[in-house]
Amino acid sequence: MLEVKDLHVSVDGKEILKGLSLTVNAGEVHAIMGPNGAGKSTLSSVIAGKDGYEVTAGSITFEGRDVLEMEIEERARAGLLLGFQYPVEIPGVKNIYLLKAALNAQRAARGEGEIPAPEFMKLVKEKLAFMKMDPSFLQRAVNEGFSGGEKKRNEILQMLVLEPRLAMLDEIDSGLDIDALKVVAEGVNSLRSEERAVLMVTHYQRLLDYIVPDKVHVLLDGRIVKSGDKDLALELESRGYEWVQEESAA
Ligand code: ADP
Ligand code: MG
Ligand code: MG
Repeated sequence: MLEVKDLHVSVDGKEILKGLSLTVNAGEVHAIMGPNGAGKSTLSSVIAGKDGYEVTAGSITFEGRDVLEMEIEERARAGLLLGFQYPVEIPGVKNIYLLKAALNAQRAARGEGEIPAPEFMKLVKEKLAFMKMDPSFLQRAVNEGFSGGEKKRNEILQMLVLEPRLAMLDEIDSGLDIDALKVVAEGVNSLRSEERAVLMVTHYQRLLDYIVPDKVHVLLDGRIVKSGDKDLALELESRGYEWVQEESAA
């Protein structure tokens, strides 16, 4: 589904990703772990098409298409979605309008008409209930006055409504109490299917107790230096990253 090959990315002339390769197949959940500043957020941002990143070498393909040739909106329509692509507060724009606009843009790209209002309300209410969110959320401006946990839930709500082919989640666990973490994890788990894949960036193993990944990768200094299954995350939790660094340098 997603193939990243020997990717080199610079920000402001500084090389951040230094030959990163990664393959994600449909149906899989991958976790990217690594210390602060390793380049984890850079990777998902580049895949999603955010501004400010210069790809100097390598390739990214998604279902055979050259992602680097696609505009950010095209990527979203193709089903590549990074949570919180709208991370900022958008004063005055109600959550429900953003959700509907995003869904209709996706439908238009598939040659489908706008979703009928009753159908949309039914869909959103079902997903809200699943995320244990109050319906008043829909009427609030995007992220305005949202707590950290509310933002995360909202991010997953967006994913549940848009049903991306590849859902990318960056530090979805940061700042969540255990109850919120469980709700968020249930939301992500409900996205799992044969046609979809999930790429999660996380610092902590704790999240992976609730969202069990098929593959775990260690990103160190701009490269994936080790891959394994969920046990690798446990090993990182107990041993840190230094041994991986030494192993990869040897
Ligand atoms: P991680 O998510 O693994 O903590 P990031 O991808 O956020 O790492 O950042 C990797 C490196 O790139 C860091 O050294 C960071 O300071 C730098 N970096 C990221 N984004 C920018 C930017 N917009 N401008 C300058 N430096 C950046
Ligand atoms: Mg960072
Ligand atoms: Mg980061």
